[in-house]
Amino acid sequence: MSWTKEQAKENSRLWRIKNPEYNKQYAIDHKKEATAYKITYNKPYYIKNKVKILEKSKQYVIIHREEILEKHKQKYIELREKVFDHYGHKCMWPGCDVIESYMLEIDHINGGSYKHYKGIKLYQWLVKNNFPEGFRLLCANHNWEHKINMQKEKWDSKSHSKASERNKKSCIEKKEIIFNNYDHKCNFPGGCKWNIKESDMLHLHHKNNNGAEDRKNLGNKSIYKDIINNNRYSEFLPLCPNCHEKIEKENKSWAL
Ligand SMILES: [Zn+2]
Ligand SMILES: [Zn+2]
Repeated sequence: MSWTKEQAKENSRLWRIKNPEYNKQYAIDHKKEATAYKITYNKPYYIKNKVKILEKSKQYVIIHREEILEKHKQKYIELREKVFDHYGHKCMWPGCDVIESYMLEIDHINGGSYKHYKGIKLYQWLVKNNFPEGFRLLCANHNWEHKINMQKEKWDSKSHSKASERNKKSCIEKKEIIFNNYDHKCNFPGGCKWNIKESDMLHLHHKNNNGAEDRKNLGNKSIYKDIINNNRYSEFLPLCPNCHEKIEKENKSWAL
């Protein structure tokens, strides 16, 4: 049976996907030749044919979109599980038994999250740096509680202007009005396993998943004020962070 050039190329591509170990070993064994080849041939070829190459790779992404997304998802899950396994694969808060990956988050124990990446970039960084100390797993509820406690400590350690004291008070009052409309508790359908009732621990979930759009429309305006003034209660569901993750799981194809 003879193949056309395209068929032969496609067969070889599929074979390589099925045999990733062969590829890895081949790359290790032929590293020097590959580098020399790249410098001698690939670079000048790329410069000469840049437009054609970019168009071809754009087409490739369009045709193989599903396959590429699936590959990314698998890579993400593999990496996340590797990191979570290393850090105990459970919430490290005393007495908490959450083990589900989609509810677990990496916490930088002494803060300083600005120094590091988030999501897959953070997982890559942790693996590359051989799982450094100073990180732990917390469920979304305990990670949030920890953040709130740190914010409170920071607020209490400083003096504040009358205006910012007033702003804070007004924000707390509005939250109380809103949460009282929902029995002041996590409204997860079927009940909240964690029985969360504190305002600080409740998030407002956009039922139509249009949170980003809503925030864009509101700009600098307060969402709490908007909900109260325009009676928007039916658009939201107050949820604790863990229950929020449970609901959002449906929207995240990778959140297994
Ligand atoms: Zn926990
Ligand atoms: Zn809940």
